[in-house]
Amino acid sequence: MRTAEIRQRWLDYFSARGHAVVPSAPLISPDPSTLFVIAGMVPFIPYMLGEQTPPWPRATSVQKCVRTLDIEEVGKTTRHGTFFQMNGNFSFGDYFKEGAITYAWELITSSQADGGYGFDPDTIWVTVFHDDDEAVQLWKRIAGLPDERIQRRGMRDNFWSTGARGPAGPCSEIYVDRGPQYGAEGGPVVDEDRYLEIWNLVFMQYERDNGGTKDAFPILGDLKQKNIDTGMGLERVAYLMQGVDNMYEIDEVRPVIDGAVELSGKRYGADHDDDVRMRVVADHVRSGLMLMSDGVTPSNEGRGYVLRRLLRRSIRAMRLLGVEDPALPVLLPLSRDAMSASYPELTRDFERLSTVAYAEEEAFRRTLASGTTILDTAVAGAKAAARTTPDARPVLSGADAFQLHDTYGFPIDLTLEMAEEHGVDVDREAFKTLMSEQRSRARADALAKRAGHADVAAYQDLHATLSESEAKPVTFVGYTDA
Ligand code: ATP
Ligand code: MG
Ligand code: MG
Ligand code: MG
Repeated sequence: MRTAEIRQRWLDYFSARGHAVVPSAPLISPDPSTLFVIAGMVPFIPYMLGEQTPPWPRATSVQKCVRTLDIEEVGKTTRHGTFFQMNGNFSFGDYFKEGAITYAWELITSSQADGGYGFDPDTIWVTVFHDDDEAVQLWKRIAGLPDERIQRRGMRDNFWSTGARGPAGPCSEIYVDRGPQYGAEGGPVVDEDRYLEIWNLVFMQYERDNGGTKDAFPILGDLKQKNIDTGMGLERVAYLMQGVDNMYEIDEVRPVIDGAVELSGKRYGADHDDDVRMRVVADHVRSGLMLMSDGVTPSNEGRGYVLRRLLRRSIRAMRLLGVEDPALPVLLPLSRDAMSASYPELTRDFERLSTVAYAEEEAFRRTLASGTTILDTAVAGAKAAARTTPDARPVLSGADAFQLHDTYGFPIDLTLEMAEEHGVDVDREAFKTLMSEQRSRARADALAKRAGHADVAAYQDLHATLSESEAKPVTFVGYTDA
């Protein structure tokens, strides 16, 4: 079954059960604490918090999500994309635990002829919060699950909250056993590769207070309005239903891998590192496409920097696969064609967004052309220096990293990644010091220009305010957002 059809089936199933079908919100998060929408519930937060009255008691959506936190997992696990789609069903003070478990079980185990996904009930495992006996009883009664396939987990894994005063509650996660060839027996608490998490049910039933830690925080009491928030990974379900090994091989992603195969002349499945690169390319090109379609453009900070980083990483992965020619003009249209069944606007906007993407690739090619030799020289120097001390790991100096940044436009994470490929560390502390010295110099210069000569007290004041407001240096934004 194609991904677009699995998606539609979801919406049809919940719509037939009284849920309002709500279109995906754009990827740009309405919540200022994150750059992007990271879960299906994000657009519904005001209803969950009771700040706004929901126009409907129940709703369903297939929400576009970006989680840059998962970037290092991409291509290495079977299940993490930087972009993915989260199918959700939501109840705002309407049905609760029993309803959520009943719907989930029915949809995943009903036959495909009956509108379900047709998973074999014997392959389903669930986890529940350790003292949520109610959920255990419901899973037994509704699904007939045996005790050993209901596993209990603690706060960290199976208790949801926003991290501050507000709604909170236990979760129950649904896993599919992919079979003994994929890992050890014993359920998801033992092996999350073999047992693939597909769906998270969150039962918002308590109000929590500020304070505490991730493992223990104060609960104020029951919520007046109990809510259901669920999220099912569309790509994960698609990869299981399509009988492929991972989410990068589904119909919506695989064509880009095939494009990388064609361009590089390498075979997918022949070499582990090359396979990871091809999956990274396919993932990042798609994420870039979806971000640009929602209006993000490459830049040096915030969302634009994440986009830049995704595009650059995919271009570099192509280089490591031996492709020197521009790759996006081939790969981006493949991604568009794979995604346009669900997102027809991609075709409409393609002219605009591809122009931006191709220009970004050209600019990055120039950056690489001028900086790569300098980086290689610095790496060789670091290795030579390390050879003089036994067991020392080579370290590229802060001065070299700074020069790459300042003269050749290499952002620090590019230097970090390229150095890492050569087994070389980077002296980040020294780099940061040089960066802040440069900022102070620039400020002093600006001030001196304005005042003729800098009044020392005024300068110190300004310096203090600026340092405060720059407590989070923009250069590192790409690492810290969710
Ligand atoms: P995992 O433990 O595998 O990282 P998670 O517990 O972080 O997943 P949730 O926050 O519970 O995921 O999100 C709900 C669902 O969204 C998951 O059950 C999964 O199916 C899907 N999902 C989460 N992260 C990703 C991702 N990076 N790529 C694809 N699907 C994802
Ligand atoms: Mg995760
Ligand atoms: Mg998980
Ligand atoms: Mg989860």
